[in-house]
Amino acid sequence: MAIIDPFNRTIDYIRVSVTDRCNYRCDYCMPEQGYHPDGTHKEYLSYEEIARIVGAFVELGVSKVRLTGGEPLVRKQLTNLTGMLNEFEGLKDLSLSTNAHHLDKHAQELFDTGVRRVNVSMDSLQPKKFERITRGGDLAKVLAGIDKAIEVGMTPVKVNMVVMKGNNDDEIESMTDWAIEKGIELRFIETMPIGASGIAIMDQHYKAEDILQRVSNHVGARLIESESKAAAGPARHYQIEGTDAKIGIISAVSQHFCESCNRVRLTARGVLALCLGQEDSVNLRDPIRAGISDDELKAMILKAIEKKPERHFFNENVHNIQFREMVSLGG
Ligand code: SAM
Ligand code: SF4
Repeated sequence: MAIIDPFNRTIDYIRVSVTDRCNYRCDYCMPEQGYHPDGTHKEYLSYEEIARIVGAFVELGVSKVRLTGGEPLVRKQLTNLTGMLNEFEGLKDLSLSTNAHHLDKHAQELFDTGVRRVNVSMDSLQPKKFERITRGGDLAKVLAGIDKAIEVGMTPVKVNMVVMKGNNDDEIESMTDWAIEKGIELRFIETMPIGASGIAIMDQHYKAEDILQRVSNHVGARLIESESKAAAGPARHYQIEGTDAKIGIISAVSQHFCESCNRVRLTARGVLALCLGQEDSVNLRDPIRAGISDDELKAMILKAIEKKPERHFFNENVHNIQFREMVSLGG
């Protein structure tokens, strides 16, 4: 069984935002006061509802699930959900995107319930700057979370850094050195015109090819491209020869890789979003609460996939992009 969209792409990956809340307030992602402070509990999918929807996707052929948010580790007992998802035979890859503030205390239980790899967001290695970008984040806790994930055996542990001109771009080289020291994968991400800063963040946009040039100047001939573009989605991958470190450069804006897009997103309120950069979406929460059967749910999903757009228009059309909450879409 496989889900094929109208542009002949196989959809085998779903990202699930388990909450739009977060204990951090990265200035490009969330407003200082957060989103939906008055949102009631009932608006959000329960873990059982998430598991039911993900289960339907898995039966249709999805094999990869990433839990994200907001910050997934601020939702209580996340391992109740990972435990349920871990029961699905067709699910081959269960991963998590986190700011790692609470990872230290949850890494072992996550691993034991099937989360074998993790992506951590960390935009600076300077405590004061980290605190400023995240509006209150604690770098020491994040570094402890990364170490714990490595210790319990999660692999790979990837660290994502959104590169912002005049803000943290001075750390491209020092972050690379840190990745070499830790032997982990560091991914440099281009800013995208979504989230709390909207298009204003694009004033700080630092192009993927310029990031690559900086890394290349820094490590020299040791930087070896390791995967073809087509296989890598919106990323290019490099190995730093003679080390365990890898570098990824994610250029979702300056070069889009929509032709190899394999994913959809489920928001915490149960809306299936078909593209990070376009509005097309379908509400799954209300029909399941109205009592549709599993077969009807699967038929709804397949119908929704027919609406998946061919591509986003971040690069051409930045000023026409509607405001989109990154915490709902989950990155
Ligand atoms: N809280 C978790 C975290 O920070 O990893 C998961 C959710 S967060 C929305 C997912 C990813 O989106 C993070 O790596 C974050 O840096 C990235 N992100 C948020 N807004 C962005 C933007 N405007 N451009 C590029 N990346 C962005
Ligand atoms: Fe929270 Fe992640 Fe957004 Fe930062 S990027 S505010 S950690 S959801």
